[in-house]
Amino acid sequence: MSAEVTAYVQRHEAAIAPLLKDYSIKLWNLSLEGTNPEFEQAAVESKERYLKVYNNREEFEQLKRWKAAGLCLDELTARQFKLIYDGFVPNQIEPHVLRDIVQRETQIENLFNTFRANLEGNKPSDNQLREILRTEQNPSRRRAAWEASKQIGREAAPQLLELISIRNVEARKLGYDDYYSMMFQLQELDARWVFSVFDWLEVLSEQAFVSMKTELDASLKAKYGITERENYPWLYSDPFFQEFPAAGSLDSLDDVFKDADIEALTRAHYDSIGLDIGDLLSRADLYERDGKSQHAFCMDMDRQGDIRVLCNIRKNERWMSTMLHEFGHAVYDKYNDRALPFLLRGPAHTLTTEAIAMLNGRMSKNPEWLTKIGGLKREDAERLSASAWKTLRSEMLIFLRWAITLVRFERELYRNTGQDLDRLWWEYVERFQKVTPPPDRGHAVWASKNHLATSPVYYQNYVLGELMASQLLRHIHTKVVQSESYVGNASVGRYLVENVFKPGSRYDWNTMLKRATGEDLNPDHFIAQFVEKN
Ligand SMILES: [Zn+2]
Repeated sequence: MSAEVTAYVQRHEAAIAPLLKDYSIKLWNLSLEGTNPEFEQAAVESKERYLKVYNNREEFEQLKRWKAAGLCLDELTARQFKLIYDGFVPNQIEPHVLRDIVQRETQIENLFNTFRANLEGNKPSDNQLREILRTEQNPSRRRAAWEASKQIGREAAPQLLELISIRNVEARKLGYDDYYSMMFQLQELDARWVFSVFDWLEVLSEQAFVSMKTELDASLKAKYGITERENYPWLYSDPFFQEFPAAGSLDSLDDVFKDADIEALTRAHYDSIGLDIGDLLSRADLYERDGKSQHAFCMDMDRQGDIRVLCNIRKNERWMSTMLHEFGHAVYDKYNDRALPFLLRGPAHTLTTEAIAMLNGRMSKNPEWLTKIGGLKREDAERLSASAWKTLRSEMLIFLRWAITLVRFERELYRNTGQDLDRLWWEYVERFQKVTPPPDRGHAVWASKNHLATSPVYYQNYVLGELMASQLLRHIHTKVVQSESYVGNASVGRYLVENVFKPGSRYDWNTMLKRATGEDLNPDHFIAQFVEKN
């Protein structure tokens, strides 16, 4: 029977590889030209063809029989079999429901690709709205820009709520509490453990966050001449206060990048750790255009080297960091082990590829990086280094509190879509992020966050990714380069290729991490780097 399973796994791989590639291409095309209705239809049809493989009931019955028989398979076949099995579970639904879900998901994804807000009679891009929140002195214009950035929430909320209800109905039919718990299990995440880590991070970061933010709020208010006590969301340059405000009173890192060649710096960074991204840059689509997705992502089209990055570069620190982040995903995909079977040739987990992306994305605020790669003069680097470190630490605390807000909200959203979500959203924002809710709390502001609509049950992976990034960095410092250094050392790239990229998904994520660093995922490293250290 083991031979039968092995043959099945090979047949499955041969069937799925071209379908996955076709879907990736259709999705890529749609991201570049979201206003083309043919592209939307093509993406829907391609995704459906791909998911139909996992929708086959008789095949799943066979997989269940094999699973129950407790076969003795070799390590790689057993791992592939598990991944295939987990792929079938969420797709055991009526074909017409599957089709309905795919259509709704693509529509909402495309709404986020093509929506442009309305402000002062214009249709500003996300980058333009952010520019206002970064530089505008007049508080009422800041508020108008912030509100404009939330307009998409009102459009997206009804579609999103319907989609969540359908997902929940199907997940409950499959025996899960709701779609959220199903996705946690299928992502090999233990919800109790993850939320206990979140509880713990919340408690440990509270004091550090409050004292950092008190100082930050005071400096922002002084800058804008605001005397009110409230810390309204338009005080910050990021519409969700998920990033450090670029216009704080600290020396602005944006000055460092205002004339920089962001592409060249990204290449120099990866060169310095021994990873070549020349081919990846040539396939990337990096600048703003109408109809193009305003976000940033990396897609592995075929697990054979066709890896594409989408960005909307501006010459500022945010896009420097985003480029370093996205090319972190890209090198993970590029340096996979082609000898592994197709199904095991991807990252071990979303959280592990986020970890690599975040480890590198942090560098644009790293004093060592700013001198060695950013080309800062020594005296500028010295002047900036204290503030750069402070910015990085603040950014970590700000992101952590924001992620706690979003992850907790998303879990509640799936538990009960009928509750007062606007009230819940602002309650969490106030409690975890210490941001004052606006006088008018309606309008489904929460639904303007693209991840809730387009990457469901995903955000916890960013926090776990940051924890893993800190653990990897610690290991690199103590065992690989044996100094408090990261850039300019090709052994860093070699270590990552051999221990993280090449194993692909042949092990579950925690086993891979344990093999790479000698311990299970341990939040202490993040706490030591960013909460305790001042
Ligand atoms: Zn990422």
